[in-house]
Amino acid sequence: MIRPLLTRLQSGPLWWGQCLLCRQDCQDTALLCRHCRTELPVLEHPCPGCAFPLPLDDAHCGRCQKRPPPWQRMRVLAPFEAPFSRLVHDLKYHGRLLNGRLLGRLLAEQLAPPWPEAVLPVPLYWWRRLRRGYNQADEIARELGRELNIQVDHHLLRRVRATPSQTHLSKMERRRNLRGAFTAVSCPYRHVALLDDVITTGATMAELTRLLHAQGVERVEVWAVCRTLEH
Ligand SMILES: [Zn+2]
Ligand SMILES: [Zn+2]
Repeated sequence: MIRPLLTRLQSGPLWWGQCLLCRQDCQDTALLCRHCRTELPVLEHPCPGCAFPLPLDDAHCGRCQKRPPPWQRMRVLAPFEAPFSRLVHDLKYHGRLLNGRLLGRLLAEQLAPPWPEAVLPVPLYWWRRLRRGYNQADEIARELGRELNIQVDHHLLRRVRATPSQTHLSKMERRRNLRGAFTAVSCPYRHVALLDDVITTGATMAELTRLLHAQGVERVEVWAVCRTLEH
């Protein structure tokens, strides 16, 4: 438990009023200076099913039309590229908890009603959470929930099994890898949003969505800060 605490103390920024990207002074609670803010990449015309950028608005991509995803809608803030990749990395591995706050706030600005009854951050396995000292998805969710005035439920979902890294697995192998990795206590909601930092294949979100539908949830949205752009 000492290490995460130390990481937190050592990591910047040391003062409010510094831009999290360029460290220039900025308005006290803004977390980003105006210049860095205007430079942020955006996802153009994201597909409502998988958030893949499309040439035109309001259409599902061919892939989602052929095989609709299990969730009802996906909303993502940005492609997984600089500076978001760095903000997420520093949040996860260098204890920069303010990054979570910034990312939650930026994501909240991109979202629109109808609002879910609760936001469910994707849980970490207890051991990983203990070692890291926090769950990055919780940090993002807390600020997002505050901005949108939606409750964040940290207890409904549990990761009951550690899952080995998914990086080199095929889609089928990922699915197998995740089977039985999560449980949900009885779910009082009909409309929820799952929240994670980065979506790659969506295998984790698909597994959690199936679990929530089995619990009687009617509408599952998938929210994330970034998605990788290979389709
Ligand atoms: Zn800046
Ligand atoms: Zn799609």
